[in-house]
Amino acid sequence: MEITFLGTAGAIPTAARTNTSLWIENNKTAIIIDCSGDILHKLKRYDLHYERLEYVIITHGHIDHTFGLPSLIESLRLEGRTKALHLYINEDTFKRQYEILESCNLLHRKDGFPIIFHSIPLINHYHLLTEEGLDVFTHQVKHLIPNVAIRLSNGTMSFTYSSDTEPFEAFVDFAMNTDVLIHECMCAKWFSDPLVGHSRTDQVGQIAQQVHAKILYPVHFSPKIDENPERFKEEIAQEYTGTIIIPYDGFKFRLKDDKIEKI
Ligand SMILES: [Zn+2]
Ligand SMILES: [Zn+2]
Repeated sequence: MEITFLGTAGAIPTAARTNTSLWIENNKTAIIIDCSGDILHKLKRYDLHYERLEYVIITHGHIDHTFGLPSLIESLRLEGRTKALHLYINEDTFKRQYEILESCNLLHRKDGFPIIFHSIPLINHYHLLTEEGLDVFTHQVKHLIPNVAIRLSNGTMSFTYSSDTEPFEAFVDFAMNTDVLIHECMCAKWFSDPLVGHSRTDQVGQIAQQVHAKILYPVHFSPKIDENPERFKEEIAQEYTGTIIIPYDGFKFRLKDDKIEKI
């Protein structure tokens, strides 16, 4: 399976980074996790097989994770998509997202493609879907509104994406022994106290260490990331002995056999 960072910023984008969202594909299917910005542009720009897209997962209702969804659906429709798209939406924001799509005249169109809605229940260790060798699980996290983390496994390897959360014990249990941890890292020690609902460099390092992740990709950064990415990394490394990679938008890696490779 191949993973591409479609964005790596928190709610405030920078000149180089857009809001955090992820693309996951294998040779048969593809999944988008969170939907911000001009998604189809990014899929084309990063040369991804967007015809494989079958699933979109929305972790929570904050605008930096959702606002690209209407434009993704409309741009795929205009390009002539006919294949159904499955939308998995956190139950807390399900109704609102549905209403937004409906008010944009994107549903029930004769000239559109089928959209199949699924609500993500706020249940821990929930098995969300199985498809083409991929298993997706969700787990509630601790954010300003109800939110879920996602763990995705291809049978031999797994990655866990925290979405937006402050550190807490049950997440460590959910992410335990994941090969790759993609964790939000909203702020750093040199400029911020710990935040409610988000994680700081030292906390992210502690979590990566506790779950025994082989590689940590911090994401969902404050705009200060572009001033000094190395300082973010150094602060995390004080707590975590594994490999830390600060991804840029468009960064790709692959989980294959027992290896994690940059593409
Ligand atoms: Zn966010
Ligand atoms: Zn959020």
